[in-house]
Amino acid sequence: MTNKLTLSILAALLTTSAGVSAKQPEFAADHCKAGEINAQHYRNFPAAEAEAKARHAKLFERKRAMAKPGDDASVAIGDTPSALALSATPSYVIPVVFHVYGTQFNGKTVTDAVIIDALNKTNEDFQGRTADFADIDAEFQGVKQALNIEFRLASIDPQGNPTSGIVYHPASSGAGNYSSSDVKRDHWDNYKYMNVYIQNDLYADGVTNNSGVAWYPDTTMSDEGLARVTYNGAYLGSNTDENFRSVLTHEFGHFLDLIHTFEGGCKRGMERRCGTTGDENCDTPQQNSWQMNPGDGGIVNCMGQTINWQNFMAYSDQYANFTQDQVARMVNGLDSQARVTLWSAQNQAATGVAN
Ligand SMILES: [Zn+2]
Repeated sequence: MTNKLTLSILAALLTTSAGVSAKQPEFAADHCKAGEINAQHYRNFPAAEAEAKARHAKLFERKRAMAKPGDDASVAIGDTPSALALSATPSYVIPVVFHVYGTQFNGKTVTDAVIIDALNKTNEDFQGRTADFADIDAEFQGVKQALNIEFRLASIDPQGNPTSGIVYHPASSGAGNYSSSDVKRDHWDNYKYMNVYIQNDLYADGVTNNSGVAWYPDTTMSDEGLARVTYNGAYLGSNTDENFRSVLTHEFGHFLDLIHTFEGGCKRGMERRCGTTGDENCDTPQQNSWQMNPGDGGIVNCMGQTINWQNFMAYSDQYANFTQDQVARMVNGLDSQARVTLWSAQNQAATGVAN
C-alpha cells in the first residue's frame, strides 16, 4: 500500500525536525499531506492565515468564558485544562456531495453502496459508536470525546432537483492540487455543500496510493469553490481494511480544523504553549514523529508521556478517538464563516438533509 519514494520523502521531511531515525512503519505512511498543503496555502494567502488566527482566538475566548470559578482565566490557552473543553455540543448535520472520477481505483470500484457504507462508518467514528472507541488505552478514557455530527448525502442539488448526492465523472486526476480545474468546475456551492472528490492519482503525478488531503476552514477557498476533501477511492469503506477506511474520518477532521497530532514533533519547550504549537490541543500529547504505533517506535513521547496513538489525527493502525480539545476545536470550526452555513436549518432543508 505504501510507495517507497513518497514514503522516504515524507520520512525525511518529518523526521528531520523530530530527530528520529526513519523507520518503515507497518501501516501505510503516506496518509495525507494536509500539514504541507495548508502551510503552503497560508504562505500564498496571508489573509487566510489571519482568518485562521482570528478563528482560533475565538476558540480561546470561548474556553475562557467557560472557565470555572477558581480557574485562572488569564492563562494562555496552552495552559487551559482539557476539562474546559466545550460541552453540550448541539447536533450538526452536514450535507455532502461526492464527485467520483473514473471507475478504477487500484483494482477497486466506487459505487453508491461503497460511499454510503464509508460515510456511515465515518459517522460512527465521529459519534464514538465503534468498538475501538470503547476500548482505547486507559490513559485516554477520560479524555476521549465524541462529536454529535452526521455527514449526510445531499438529496437536493444546487438547481433544486433530486440527487443521490453522488456525481460520477470521467476518470481524472489532480484534485489534491490547490487549483485543480476539476474541483473548480464541478463544485457545488461550498457554503451549502461539503464537497468530497474521489480520484486515484490525487496529485496527477502518477502516484496512486496517496490516501487523501483536505484544507482547514477558509472563506477564500469557499468563495472560489475550492473548499474540499480529496480522497482516494481505493481507501473508501469496504475497498480497504476496517482501520484504514478511517482515514476518511481523519480527512473530515482536517475539514473541521484539526491538525495532525504529530505536527511539530516533540519538544519540551512546546509543552507550556500546547495551545498554540503542535496540533494546538493540550490533551493530545506531543508525538516524536508520525511513526508512533506500538511496535513502531514505542508509545511514549520525548517527555515520557503516553501518547494517544489511536487518535484519528495521528497515523494509527487502530484509529479510535478524538479528544475533548479536538472536539472543542471542531465545534469552533463548525461555527466559522466558512462552515457555519452548512449546518443551518435553512440549508439542511434546501439540500434535503433535514430530519
Ligand atoms: Zn492528515
